[in-house]
Amino acid sequence: MNAAIYPGSFDPMTLGHLDIIRRAAKMFDELTVSVLDNKAKNALFSVEERVSILKEATKNLPNVTVDSFNGLLIDYARQKNVRISVRGLRAITDFEYELQTAQTNRMLSCGELDTVFLTTSLEYAYLSSSSVKEIAAFHGDISQCVPDFVAKLVYEKYANR
Ligand code: ADP
Repeated sequence: MNAAIYPGSFDPMTLGHLDIIRRAAKMFDELTVSVLDNKAKNALFSVEERVSILKEATKNLPNVTVDSFNGLLIDYARQKNVRISVRGLRAITDFEYELQTAQTNRMLSCGELDTVFLTTSLEYAYLSSSSVKEIAAFHGDISQCVPDFVAKLVYEKYANR
C-alpha cells in the first residue's frame, strides 16, 4: 500500500493546502491529512474545528482521511505504518525550513520517513494561513484564499472576538 501523511497546522486550511491535498491524493493510494496539535502556536481554530473543516473540504476524495496528532511526526508515522510525508513548497523562504525538517525526520527515523515535496500551483504561491487571518481580522476579502464555507467560519471567529 502506497500511503502518505500530509501534516500541518491548517489554521485554517486554504485553497493552497487543498490543491496539495488533491494532487497528493492522485499520487498515493491513501492520504492522511493530519492536523498537528501544537500547543505552542496560538491558533484561531481548535484542532477539532480544523479537522472538521478538512473533512468537509475533502469529503469527495475517497482515499483521503483526516486525523490529528501531537508529538513527533516520526512517531505518529511509525504508528500508522506510513513512510512518506508530503509537504508543499511555495518559495525559497519555505525551502530552508522544509529541508531542515525533512533531514531531521530522516535522521530521527533512521531513514524510515522520507518527505515528498509538491511545488505550489502558481495561483496559490502567495497564500498562507497567516495572511488569510491578517486580511480577515481587518474585514478584507478572503474569498480568493479559502473555500466559501471556510471564509464564513473565519469571519465568524473575528466577529466574536
Ligand atoms: P505549518 O505546517 O508549517 O504550520 P501550514 O499548516 O500552513 O504550515 O502548511 C502545511 C504545509 O502546506 C506546509 O508544507 C506548507 O509549506 C504547505 N503550504 C501552505 N500554504 C501553501 C500554498 N499556498 N501552496 C502550497 N503549499 C502550501
